[in-house]
Amino acid sequence: FFPGKDYKIVIVGLDNAGKTTTLYKLHLGDVVTTHPTVGSNVEELVYKNIRFEAWDVGGQERLRTSWATYYRGTHAVVVVIDSTDRARISIMKDELFRLLGHDELQHSVVLIFANKQDLKDAMTPAEITDALSLHSIKNHDWHIQACSALTGDGLYDGLEWISQRVT
Ligand code: GDP
Repeated sequence: FFPGKDYKIVIVGLDNAGKTTTLYKLHLGDVVTTHPTVGSNVEELVYKNIRFEAWDVGGQERLRTSWATYYRGTHAVVVVIDSTDRARISIMKDELFRLLGHDELQHSVVLIFANKQDLKDAMTPAEITDALSLHSIKNHDWHIQACSALTGDGLYDGLEWISQRVT
C-alpha cells in the first residue's frame, strides 16, 4: 500500500466510534496503548513504514491544544464515525473543523470512515456527508468510505484511497 518513505496516519473519533476495532481488524499487528504526558490514551500501531495513532476527541477541552504536537508530520487523518450515533454527530463535526484548522494538518488528506454500516439504523454516507458538512472542506482532499470495523468491509478500500493520495 505505502511504498517508500515513512507515513503517519492519525485516527480520531469520539469514544465508541470503532477506532480500536478498526486498528485490530486491519490485522497489521499489535496495538500498543501509550500514556503520553497529555494524560489521554493514545493507541499506536506501527506497520512497516506506517505509523497509526488513534485517540478520542471530544469532551477533553483542556487537553486539546497540547495535541498539536502529535499532529506534526501527519499524512492522513482518519475520522471514524459511529454511523448510528445521531446524537453526537454535530460534536464530531465541530471537532473535525477544529482539527482541520491546525497548521500541522494543513497538508493532510482526510478519510471519513462511516463505520458500523452493518447495523440497521446506520446513517448512510450521504447523510453523514451532510451532517458533517464535508462539502465545505476546501483545503483538504477528503473522502468518505462506508465500512464495518466488525466485519472488515470497506477498511482496506479506505486505506487504498489514502495510499493513492499520499504517495
Ligand atoms: P473506540 O472507542 O473508538 O476505540 O471504539 P471501539 O473500537 O472500542 O468500539 C466500540 C464498540 O463498538 C465496541 O463494542 C465494538 O465492538 C463496536 N463496534 C466497532 N465497530 C463496529 C462496527 O463496525 N459494527 C458494529 N456493529 N459494532 C462495532
